[in-house]
Amino acid sequence: MTSLKNSVSGLLIALSCLLMAGSVSGQGRLSIEEVKDGLHVITGPGGNIGVRLTADGVILIDDKFPEDFEEIQSLVASVTALPVKYVINTHHHGDHSGSNASFLQTAEVIAHKNARDNIIRNNQDGAPRIIFMDETAVFLGGVEVQAFHLGTGHTNGDAVVYFPDLNTIHGGDLLHTTAPFIDYANGGSSKGWVDTVNGILKLDFDTAIPGHGPVMDRRFVINFRNQMEAVRQRMADLIRDGLRAEDAADAIRDASLSWTQAENGLFMSRSIPGFYAEIAAELE
Ligand SMILES: [Zn+2]
Repeated sequence: MTSLKNSVSGLLIALSCLLMAGSVSGQGRLSIEEVKDGLHVITGPGGNIGVRLTADGVILIDDKFPEDFEEIQSLVASVTALPVKYVINTHHHGDHSGSNASFLQTAEVIAHKNARDNIIRNNQDGAPRIIFMDETAVFLGGVEVQAFHLGTGHTNGDAVVYFPDLNTIHGGDLLHTTAPFIDYANGGSSKGWVDTVNGILKLDFDTAIPGHGPVMDRRFVINFRNQMEAVRQRMADLIRDGLRAEDAADAIRDASLSWTQAENGLFMSRSIPGFYAEIAAELE
């Protein structure tokens, strides 16, 4: 009898915890904060989610991992009573498109054609039903959200999402607060990245949500472009001086280039072999 009582009260405690986690924001591993009037960002593990509120529903930018779906929904419900109608993926990586399959039950998911191709080729769930090539837009509840593919960079299917009335962008992983990952296996390119960021800078914005890390301003985006150009120049100079591929990770380190100082950063740990090959090919 005692053990039955204990297990029943344990069940009730577990149930009330579950209900609390479902109804109160900030109880789980994610949190939501306002960026500008009508635009929020959900942070925590996985890519930053843009949450654009409209009079007829919500437009999400990216949707983190599959296990985040319920918490994303409850955080959205903490700022609006309306449902998510559209999800725009900034690219195919699973920490940005992981909840696509769940959202596709009740919403449309939009991505660049190459991002959809990458999702399928990499055996990920939740391929978008709608694709675009150069640009597209969603008009919902009096709000326009634009998406542009400005060239290669992080991958070959990157989208920059622009909120024109808020002078704000969501750059996905084209904008990193730290050393970036150039995904050469999925069409990434450092040269393309510079050109793409120059395209981003033609948009009229003062605020940028990066793929990961805190919201940044326009100056940070310019600095990011400048460092990409600087590491490209350094690698080119080293290769002209006879650098071999196997020595690239050590040789590129430079106190003036913060990306090369991040020992475990994505740039140093995952991008260097492809980066060497890309620059070497440019010099041929
Ligand atoms: Zn990514």
